[in-house]
Amino acid sequence: MRFLDFLFPPKCIGCGEVLESASKLIHEKGGDAFCPSCRAEWEMAKLSQCARCRLPMIDCRCSSNMMRRNGNNVLLKLCSYKGEPMGAVKRLIFALKRSADRRAERFAAYQLHMPIMKYASIYLGADLIITNVPRRERGIINFGYDHAAFLAKNLSKITHIPYEPLLLREIDGKEQKNLDEEARRRNVKGVFSLNKKAASIKGRCIILVDDVVTTGASINECISVLKDAEPAAILPVCIAQNARIFTEEDKDK
Ligand SMILES: [Zn+2]
Ligand SMILES: [Zn+2]
Repeated sequence: MRFLDFLFPPKCIGCGEVLESASKLIHEKGGDAFCPSCRAEWEMAKLSQCARCRLPMIDCRCSSNMMRRNGNNVLLKLCSYKGEPMGAVKRLIFALKRSADRRAERFAAYQLHMPIMKYASIYLGADLIITNVPRRERGIINFGYDHAAFLAKNLSKITHIPYEPLLLREIDGKEQKNLDEEARRRNVKGVFSLNKKAASIKGRCIILVDDVVTTGASINECISVLKDAEPAAILPVCIAQNARIFTEEDKDK
């Protein structure tokens, strides 16, 4: 047992149940983030079927309507995010965004690195670079960190692909949560810029990390900004894709 586990017994980030102390190796891989029951719920979420391609979410590459309109046809994700009820997926996202519990990041990064490496080995070159959609300033002030950057850095550690903060957030914009698709698109226009201090990305393949993709407005805008620097390819990835994307598209038909 690690000394800290003795003082502060680890709890499941899904349900709060006290967990058995995990070995150092399991801890490093974030494998002690969930209790067995929440972990099973998480695994089921990865296997839930995509409404468009019918593949399990873990194998689905469908991007949102808005992303496709901009020629961004691929989005890797682990599961869908329905918002309700408060299950393992939502708790994991909450833990990432709001708590100082680094197990959520390690767990999410370990989970994400598998589909990313699988895709990269087939479709991307060897010159890869990881970056993230920068968090809103308000979120950084409230919680003290950029969870997407932490997630991307963890991914970098696991995959040995270098991490670079390629994007900057120029203005905060409104919180996207309660905006519709068109309002979201307008809200992120001009929000991001290229970090001039970052390495040149011309001809390189970028893995762009975010936590949740809802309409895809932010990740789309980040892709547009990155494209100006002429990378060879950009692969957007997220933990969860909001299932609403598909229901809204169904309404369009
Ligand atoms: Zn649990
Ligand atoms: Zn799909």
